[in-house]
Amino acid sequence: MGSEFSWSVSRHDAFARCRRRYFYSYYAANEDPEVLRLKRLSALPLWAGSVVHETIEAILRSRDAIPSPDEQEALIRAAVHSQMLTDWRESEAGSARFRLFEHEYRLPVDPEDKKILVGTVMRSLRNFFKSPILAEAYGAGRGRWLSLEELVSFDVGGVPVYLRMDLAFRASDGRVVIVDWKTGRGEGKFSEVQVAGYALYAAAQGWAAPEEIQTELAYLAIPRYVRRSVDRRKLDHARSFVTKSAGTMKALLLDPLSNLARREDFPMIDRPQVCRRCNFRRLCFPRLEDTLPAPAAVPAPA
Ligand code: SF4
Repeated sequence: MGSEFSWSVSRHDAFARCRRRYFYSYYAANEDPEVLRLKRLSALPLWAGSVVHETIEAILRSRDAIPSPDEQEALIRAAVHSQMLTDWRESEAGSARFRLFEHEYRLPVDPEDKKILVGTVMRSLRNFFKSPILAEAYGAGRGRWLSLEELVSFDVGGVPVYLRMDLAFRASDGRVVIVDWKTGRGEGKFSEVQVAGYALYAAAQGWAAPEEIQTELAYLAIPRYVRRSVDRRKLDHARSFVTKSAGTMKALLLDPLSNLARREDFPMIDRPQVCRRCNFRRLCFPRLEDTLPAPAAVPAPA
């Protein structure tokens, strides 16, 4: 018996990339601790994103105002020299808490890539402190914040939809602004749906009418801030997108009522370039993994 079927943007993304990957992530990982461990491996760019998100969350949870410039620098240094260093060392030691994809699969990490990564984290955090949206959120006052790093869910046609909301607040003029911090440079393929998902949740919560909801994608590494307004047409489009996507996923289940899936119904893909970067490649190509060279010692990020 599987757990209840639910929908999320990342689930849709996994399904679109590779059915087998989707099966491992959303079915086998619930049953098998080793599959769950592989699902949780973090590749370098994802790691940068998590460090930035965790740092921002800790700041927003604990501060009533934007920290002073000296404090900002101290917080950025702590993120890079303390958290990233700890993560890296734990990953190298095979920690169950944090493990990099590159360490798991013994991929050499170019020192230049590490520098770029550290640079992305530092630049993203510096831009976060300078961002107009942060000033606006603190200007509105913490009493008007509606959601902070919460995993929220709402219903679309009987399907529970999950999404993580970085920050939502009611601006001084009554609009609801929903913020998504990003460390990548480009818009994800499904950012429109994600944005509409935020608005669907806000509307379901009764926070505001669709016309009074705005979403902001904050590309901190650049920086670039993309603010969008929402209307009923976009919400309808998002609802039908979710319904169609969930229907396609359920069609592959052995028993949609109990959310029961069989591995053989979720085919592998034939794209070596994609498989090379997949967390589950050990499960799909066990013989190939046996031939990997022994791990080389890589210095931690400076
Ligand atoms: S290794 Fe390739 S086939 Fe296997 S789950 Fe990953 S992407 Fe799919």
